[in-house]
Amino acid sequence: FEGITIVELAKRTGQNINYLKQILTNVGEKIDTEFDPITVDVAELIAMEAGVNVRRLHSDEGAVLEPRPAVVTVMGHVDHGKTSLLDALRLTSVAAKEAGGITQHLGAFVVSMPSGASITFLDTPGHAAFSAMRARGAAVTDIVVLVVAADDGVMPQTLEAISHAKTANVPIVVAINKCDKPSANPERVKIQLGSEGLLLEDMGGDVQVVEVSALGRTGLDKLEETLLFQAEMMELKARINGPAHAYVVEARLDRGRGPLATMIMQSGTLVSGQYVVVGAEWGRIRALRDMTGKVIEKAWPAMPVEIEGLRGLPMAGDDVIVVETEERARMLSTGRKEKMERDRLRKAMEEKFEIPDASG
Ligand code: GDP
Ligand code: MG
Repeated sequence: FEGITIVELAKRTGQNINYLKQILTNVGEKIDTEFDPITVDVAELIAMEAGVNVRRLHSDEGAVLEPRPAVVTVMGHVDHGKTSLLDALRLTSVAAKEAGGITQHLGAFVVSMPSGASITFLDTPGHAAFSAMRARGAAVTDIVVLVVAADDGVMPQTLEAISHAKTANVPIVVAINKCDKPSANPERVKIQLGSEGLLLEDMGGDVQVVEVSALGRTGLDKLEETLLFQAEMMELKARINGPAHAYVVEARLDRGRGPLATMIMQSGTLVSGQYVVVGAEWGRIRALRDMTGKVIEKAWPAMPVEIEGLRGLPMAGDDVIVVETEERARMLSTGRKEKMERDRLRKAMEEKFEIPDASG
């Protein structure tokens, strides 16, 4: 089990050992010597109480890693067909097949290939979602599908998407859309992308390009195959066993079921009934559902799942961790909320004193 000693924590946070021990007592933890390991949850609590910023590293060092599906985000200029492409891809998904074409909106869906491999698509087109999640440290996307309309070509948000993907170090697969249009000129798009520094395969680079039509539903198989190929090259792996770690991609309040969060599993196994801390919220998983809405017992990496049972509404990009007891979940949630409030107040104070003096 992951753990840290109070000595180590003092070293890493630059805080006095006795001070940390005092906090430890205050949060109701007992240790015999300062060399006894404390759990990561308690370490986080202590650090929060001491006003130190902490970040769980979720190190999977030494863990057995197994291949996992890729998680894909669609980006591109407005009206170039992101939503249409996702809709078309969704129709090829398991959910569509199982639900007879009617899919509930879950924030993510899975497309299974005849080979047995699958791809998880984040159903949150738009750069804002991508940036918001990145800003919160959630590296959920493995591959970006850059949608460029064949008749319109490279536009400002196309460049923005390229820049986002590059900053995040996420490979791009280009989908030249609207190829059904008489005015479509995919070759021109390729040249434009090339001059923007995207090294397309046609030009000896390694960025794959697929010509599609979301409306005509052509090229979708090719796009899926290309994504699988790209994923294979990346050799995506995750720890399958042990405590789950996931990221929220979408959260909403359901009248009957309460707060619902769709999340993408990063590592480990999530089990229905477990206590989770999601951002500053917590809860016990009352129901775990796959993207078809079916109640399941367990979830594994790259799976989109919906959890029911949270006490409050988390935010997109929040991370999901499993804790052992309800008390821990409560403590962590309270600690994080208090810290958020302190940070908010500090920021408000700073802003207040930064207002330029009009009198000069
Ligand atoms: P988004 O803003 O990128 O999500 O773009 P939308 O998916 O909303 O599409 C914008 C417009 O382009 C809509 O009127 C779509 O019907 C149209 N469109 C999307 N894909 C295609 C396509 O493959 N062919 C044609 N002819 N029109 C398309
Ligand atoms: Mg759209």
